[in-house]
Amino acid sequence: MKVTMPNLGSLASIAGKSLLSNLGHEVILPPPNTKRTLDLGVRYAPEYCCLPLKIVLGNFIEALEKGADTIITVGGWGPCRFGYYSEIQRMILKSLGYKFEMISLEVPHGNLIRMLNYINRLRNKKSLPSFIEAFKLAWAKVVTIEELEKEALRVRPRENIKGETSKILKRGLSLIDNTNSIEEIERIKQKTLIDYSKIIEDNEDKDLIKIKLVGEFYVALEPFVNHNIEEKLGYLGVEVERGVSAIPWISSFLKFFRENKLQDIIENAAEPYLAQSVGGEGQSTIGHIVLASENGMDGAIQVIPFTCMPEIVAEIISKKVSDDLNFPVLTLIYDEQTGEEGLVTRLDAFVDLLKMKKFERHLIRR
Ligand code: SF4
Repeated sequence: MKVTMPNLGSLASIAGKSLLSNLGHEVILPPPNTKRTLDLGVRYAPEYCCLPLKIVLGNFIEALEKGADTIITVGGWGPCRFGYYSEIQRMILKSLGYKFEMISLEVPHGNLIRMLNYINRLRNKKSLPSFIEAFKLAWAKVVTIEELEKEALRVRPRENIKGETSKILKRGLSLIDNTNSIEEIERIKQKTLIDYSKIIEDNEDKDLIKIKLVGEFYVALEPFVNHNIEEKLGYLGVEVERGVSAIPWISSFLKFFRENKLQDIIENAAEPYLAQSVGGEGQSTIGHIVLASENGMDGAIQVIPFTCMPEIVAEIISKKVSDDLNFPVLTLIYDEQTGEEGLVTRLDAFVDLLKMKKFERHLIRR
């Protein structure tokens, strides 16, 4: 099989590739997301489909053009349009004449038979122990990538030379991409953390504006789609904390390993405003905003793909949360027309507002 999968930051291109190539598959990744990817998705997807569906469709077209014959993707559960996302993409690609097989992985919800079925389809005749080894290595990559990316969010606004954090992170990720040893991944992590600490000497205790980044999973984690919002905020002197992570999301596939505690805390925090799931990350968005306020952060930014149902619900509710808690929330809606300049202007204005509010709080305390 010549397999491909959608781009998702460094996670798919490093950890996803690691899993599949160690199972003996030929992995043909889509090229990094570009305007062409977006244009292809926009050209062939129905107009009112959500933005991630369009970009992922563009990924699939570009990967099939490179020779992929099997698409591995996720899908199949709602209540938002994610439930029929992969099926729509399959139908569009077939209508364009592409020949391929699509393996759409759905959350097994503790269903062992479904889980074993997925493992059998992916393991490429490898033994179960080999599958487990390949999975453990890929999982170590996922966890380490997230740790290093999250630490970069703390380091970047403190760096003495602009761009150093991103350089160190890029080097670390490239080393992780090129190793097949869990011990080596740990060594790379430690070395990268040391390198980070060297570039922020004397700035460790800097009191910075802290913003929680929340919203729809794909837009929050794919830098091309969100116009590198984390880096932009870092260069504005803002410490960003991610409210979206791939780890609980992947864990939900493996219900058996699922770490429930953090999700329970988030859902409990959301409960007075939104007591049940509305699909996607809608309920978590509200929970994260409440927790960010309780934890003394300065504000939150919610990123939404245009027409995303769960996040539109969360956006409406977040206004009430923001009023009740006197906690600023900026909502950014992304579509294919979103431009760089408008985004930068809004981020600048929001950060200025947070700085002013912080200054006022200091004056009141004196
Ligand atoms: S969460 Fe939003 S963007 Fe994602 S599939 Fe559902 S409606 Fe679309």
